[in-house]
Amino acid sequence: MHIMPNEPNILILDIETFPQLQLRWRFWEKGRPVKTLRGNRVANVAYRWLGEGPKTTKVVAQIDDPNWKASGVLGELDDEYVLREMREVILNADYVVAHYGDGFDKPMLERRMMAHRLGPLPKRNWIDSKKEFSKLTGGSGHSQSLGEIAEEFGIGKKIETNISLWIDCMNGIKRAWKDFNNYAKHDVDLLHDIVVIFCPYWDTIINRGLWAPGEDVCTWCGSSNLSPRGWYRTKASEFRRYLCNNCLHWPRSAKRRPQSVKAFSDVRMR
Ligand SMILES: [Zn+2]
Repeated sequence: MHIMPNEPNILILDIETFPQLQLRWRFWEKGRPVKTLRGNRVANVAYRWLGEGPKTTKVVAQIDDPNWKASGVLGELDDEYVLREMREVILNADYVVAHYGDGFDKPMLERRMMAHRLGPLPKRNWIDSKKEFSKLTGGSGHSQSLGEIAEEFGIGKKIETNISLWIDCMNGIKRAWKDFNNYAKHDVDLLHDIVVIFCPYWDTIINRGLWAPGEDVCTWCGSSNLSPRGWYRTKASEFRRYLCNNCLHWPRSAKRRPQSVKAFSDVRMR
């Protein structure tokens, strides 16, 4: 298991789900189906710890459950095994990164864990890389999808696939599961390499200084190879600003610069 005492453990994950099975009287019917026979289920979750090599990417899949039975089309697919296993992995993470995770991965995991009475996940340690990317570059007119970013940054392409892969997996075809799991792992590897490039911009989310109390280190990468470059100012205080020579991020010192002039508020108090 990956546990690093002096660094944040950052988990990168991506979930794949099985589609809902619904009944409709007519092909062109709009709105709700007559009945949903089965809602979405988590098919597999691929994950990798930030900073570990591409061969370390793992996947937890329904097919690995010793009790798992293929659904045919209308049988029952159970994701309890996947959720139990992933819950243990997530509890070891200081941060969890997923692309569109706030909109999809996290609520999906929460709902299915709730269905299996596994209890809530810890709050506030999720990072939605798509949301963060949009905040920074959203006005540029570019797509924020994983595939587009990976290609633009020269990291790689998503594996092309279609719905028959999902159907074959629901029917328990082992060869299809192998392709499906590789597809999920490949997505996580793409996201991992995007995060490596993107994370120096996440200074407001992750503070590596919390893992190195007492000394000035880069808030992103934890390096102490810092060059002083000017000052970071708030209304009341100044802090030494650094350029991190390791990751090019701009951290600032946690220590306030001693002030030579009395602060404005002190003058007014007289
Ligand atoms: Zn750095």
